[in-house]
Amino acid sequence: MADTALMSIPGQVDPVPVARDITPRSDGRTDLLGLPKARIRELFEEAGLDPKQAKLRSKQVYHWLYHRGVTDFDAMTDIGKTMRPWMNERFVVGRPNIVEAQHSSDGTRKWLLKTDDGHEFEMVFIPDETRGTLCVSSQVGCTLNCRFCHTGTMRLVRNLTPGEIVGQVMLARDALGEWPKGRMDIGDDESETEYRADGRLLTNIVMMGMGEPLYNFDHVRDALKLVMDGEGLALSKRRITLSTSGVVPAMERCGEEIGVNLAVSLHAVTKEVRDEIVPINKKYGIEQLLEACAAYPGASNARRITFEYVMLKDKNDSDEDAHELVRLLKHYDLPAKVNLIPFNPWPGAPYECSAPDRIRSFSNIVFEAGISAPVRTPRGRDIDAACGQLKTSAEKKSRAQRDREAEEAASAEAQSGE
Ligand code: SF4
Repeated sequence: MADTALMSIPGQVDPVPVARDITPRSDGRTDLLGLPKARIRELFEEAGLDPKQAKLRSKQVYHWLYHRGVTDFDAMTDIGKTMRPWMNERFVVGRPNIVEAQHSSDGTRKWLLKTDDGHEFEMVFIPDETRGTLCVSSQVGCTLNCRFCHTGTMRLVRNLTPGEIVGQVMLARDALGEWPKGRMDIGDDESETEYRADGRLLTNIVMMGMGEPLYNFDHVRDALKLVMDGEGLALSKRRITLSTSGVVPAMERCGEEIGVNLAVSLHAVTKEVRDEIVPINKKYGIEQLLEACAAYPGASNARRITFEYVMLKDKNDSDEDAHELVRLLKHYDLPAKVNLIPFNPWPGAPYECSAPDRIRSFSNIVFEAGISAPVRTPRGRDIDAACGQLKTSAEKKSRAQRDREAEEAASAEAQSGE
């Protein structure tokens, strides 16, 4: 059963079920995944370690957990052998459970994951020539019902915990075999511990999976702090982008307390159309949203705000729309780049994708005004991993069907190995 409590969220009227930081386990042990060092230290003290010991052990465990990706206390070699069983009895380092892993023909990978209390969510890894981006979910389902988005047709089940959010990044590093190796002691020197992008597959993170991250602000912030911490996963904030549909009251906090790059799901330039396709617009209109973008802490020409714009046939894709987009971005003097996303269809979707020459014409108008407006190549369409397509397969495939597929895949593999 979900261990959730109703908490109000700044800027939002309806309370959203928020999971507590620690979900009780049936074996009575505490999962440390997602907890900051100070909380781990507190738990060690509560479990009986004296303050000095608790401080040292929490520092060691934190390093193994987030910097090395180790889940087994017995592999934490600088922790005394007598100490390890004590930890094993009381604590565990978990990961979200993998229900299904899919590989697209273009290299995109999608994982269907499950929380300990049985809720399913997804993450997607998109490799290209120069970078590898992990698209991370922040909620199970979404309350916002953007009309072009498949996730928006799911009801919100609950916010993900910090552990379930950072757990996605850790799971991806597990799958890609990308935990730092080498020296096992804790270096105080930042450069020793910094995660380098060179030669790595996972170089960037976008909070753009299922859910509206700013409706789960505290947990997203706490998870990203672990990701950005030089002693933790050590990924630079410049490599992390948070995408919001426009939760205006939380945007300034996002810049101040998290400090990552901002992406905004704009998708339309008139009230009428944006009200229809991104209904949160009825609450926070385009002008209010763009004012909040202009005030976003840390935005500059070196760190531009990305405006996502999905291309919907005869809805938002005219030359007039493109000119209005340019006018708005210039009016608010925004350090902007525009990402044009060809609409990714899903069964029952109320829209169609704009024609390629329409997208080209739209893009040219924005480019000619001096604003970068690349057209994003759809990735992972064959496994429903493309933008706006995420919806847990649980709703599309039955458990029995998945089991049958897994069995078939296993027997095909066994046969090919014979
Ligand atoms: S686009 Fe994002 S905010 Fe809108 S319904 Fe989909 S997941 Fe929710």
